[in-house]
Order: sequence, then structure tokens, then C-alpha cells
Amino acid sequence: MNHDELVRRLKEEDPVRLRWLHDEGDRVRREHVGDEVYLRGLLELSNYCVRRCGYCGINAGNSELRRYRMTHEEIRAGARLAKELGYGTVVMQAGEDFGLTREFICEAIRIVKGETGGAVTLSLGERNEDELLAWHEAGADRYLMRFETSNRPLYDRIHPPLRGERSDRQALLIKLREMGYEVGSGFLVGIPGQTYDDLARDLELLKELDLDMVGIGPYIMHPRTALAETAARFHREAGAQQVPNTSEFSLTTLALVRLLLPDTNIPSTTALSTIDSHGREHGLSCGANVIMPNLTPPEYRELYEIYPGKSCLQEAKDFHLQLELMIAGLGRSLGKGPGHSPRFRKRAGV
Ligand code: SAH
Repeated sequence: MNHDELVRRLKEEDPVRLRWLHDEGDRVRREHVGDEVYLRGLLELSNYCVRRCGYCGINAGNSELRRYRMTHEEIRAGARLAKELGYGTVVMQAGEDFGLTREFICEAIRIVKGETGGAVTLSLGERNEDELLAWHEAGADRYLMRFETSNRPLYDRIHPPLRGERSDRQALLIKLREMGYEVGSGFLVGIPGQTYDDLARDLELLKELDLDMVGIGPYIMHPRTALAETAARFHREAGAQQVPNTSEFSLTTLALVRLLLPDTNIPSTTALSTIDSHGREHGLSCGANVIMPNLTPPEYRELYEIYPGKSCLQEAKDFHLQLELMIAGLGRSLGKGPGHSPRFRKRAGV
């Protein structure tokens, strides 16, 4: 698909053709990554953050938010829960928190590896190369970091530089790959000021970065962010070219991701299920093959409020039972083991 064709597909409104595209995402998913749905246990380690991202509710400027950082013992308990529920991967995510030191994370990785024997994914933002290398050496397998948008001026507007240093997530993603990580990225859908042209470019960039994992989800406005104040103006500026942040449009984008990168792992994201009560199923039916159930201790979950209404405040074991039923209802099965992407397996020979 060339750029114009991507734009045309993104602008599609005909319900029959949209349905076809969603089904096509599902078909390509089945053909390339099969019917297994992999579950990744998510631990939100800390909501401290030095950044002031215009979209994110835990940005440093949100002084109303009570901050927390999990202890090693809490991480160990989370890893045990992941093991008990049969999850082959634990994902440790956080704000950009330098209180999560290199050593603290090395030890956290060793704890999770020791408890689960499974894969460890990190999503800790833009950290320096020494840290990223040390964490890979300590056993971390994967790193997730979305580039958020491929439009540089839009990116600068919503993701301001830190200490005057230009943020270059795309360059960092390439470095992560060179270090041996299985690498994931992705973008937000429906950022105020984001156009169809931008989104087509976002899709192309996924392909250029040759990713192993791709996470995308609708932008959800958080009242205590810079974007909440400027959204109306940016929408006006983009006019008819503004892309929506709806569930339907996110699913169309997801199906296109699957068509472009057939053998990557693609989660059905929590953001999608936040704006659509059946978002998880819908995502799994348009090309997704991964779900990331939240295993963060209940007392911290509502504090990791990157957007309002994050639909994951349910107890982990109850949620797991519900997921099992949902997955069986779709005629799919639970993935076993770490669930590396076929793309990564080919590259790394595992
Ligand atoms: N500090 C890490 C983890 C951020 S949270 C990092 O920056 O990589 C993970 C993802 O949540 C972000 O990459 C972003 O795409 C998404 N996110 C943040 N705020 C959001 C919002 N308001 N609506 C939807 N998704 C959001």
C-alpha cells in the first residue's frame, strides 16, 4: 500500500468496505500469528515522571496527583501472580522516573525472571544507553516505547524536550534493536492536530522501523494536561483533515497495522477498551493477538492515571476468568510461553 492508498483507506466511510478491512486484519492475523492470544502481566512500577507530555495525566506538572513507586517486594508479589495466572511475560511500565535507578531495575528484572522464568518487557521511557544496556544484560528481553506521532512539529508540541535536549525516540528505538531487545513502538490515534496524512505516515514509519510489537490506541483527553487546554484550537487548525479518536477509527487503523506488519505482536489496548466496552474483543477481531492484564497492586492503579477512566480497576483473578471466557468465545486459545513475535524469532533464531 502506498501513501495515497493508506490515506484513502483511513478515510473510508463505506460500512461494507470498512467491515471488509476489519475482517482482512483478522484473516491476516490468523494466517501469520495464529489463534493464540498472549497475555502479558502489566506492573505499573511508578507514576513519578520528569516529563511534561501534553497528552499524559501523570506528567510532572500534575501537582494534584499523589505519587508512588513500587518496592521490590511488591514487584515480587506481582511476578508471582503472573506466574500463578500462567502469563509468560511481565511488562514493567512507569513514568520517566530516575528514582527507578539502573540498579533498582536490574534487581527488579532478576526478581521477575527468578519468579516466573518468563520474558521481561520494559517500558520506562527515554533512558540513557548505559541503563538500557545494563537492563538487557540483567535479562530484560523487550522494550516498548511509542514514537506517539511521526509528525515532528506535532511531536515537539505534545512531547516537550527535557533539559533542552531534543527527544529522539526513533533513534533510540534503533539503538534498542542493536542492543538485542525485541522492540515495540506505536502511536496515538486522534491527537488534536493529527491529520490523515500524519497517520498514514505513522503507519509507514512502523514498517520502516521493522518492529516486533506495535501498540496503538485512541488518544483520551485528560483534564490535567496541556492538551486539554489547546485541543479545540488544534482541532480547528486541522479542520476536515483531523483524524477522529473513536473506537471505530482506532480499529480501522489497527487492521491496517496488521496488514502492513503481518508477523508482529499487536495488543488490543486498554485505551481502546476504555472508550468501547467491547474494545478488547473488537481489537482481537481486527488483527490484535495480545492483551496486557493489569497486575499492579489495587491501591496504586488509580494513581497511574495516564488518561481518565482507565478500565482496569478490576481484581486480577476476576479479570483473568473473564478474559478466558471472552477468548474462548471468540474461538481463540490462550498462548503459552513467552510469545515472542514470529518476526523476532526469525531475526534472533529462537
Ligand atoms: N513513560 C513511558 C510509558 C508511558 S505510558 C513512555 O513514555 O514510554 C504508555 C503509553 O500510554 C504512552 O506511550 C502513550 O502512547 C499512552 N498514553 C499516554 N497518555 C495517553 C492518553 N491521554 N490517551 C491515550 N493514551 C495515552
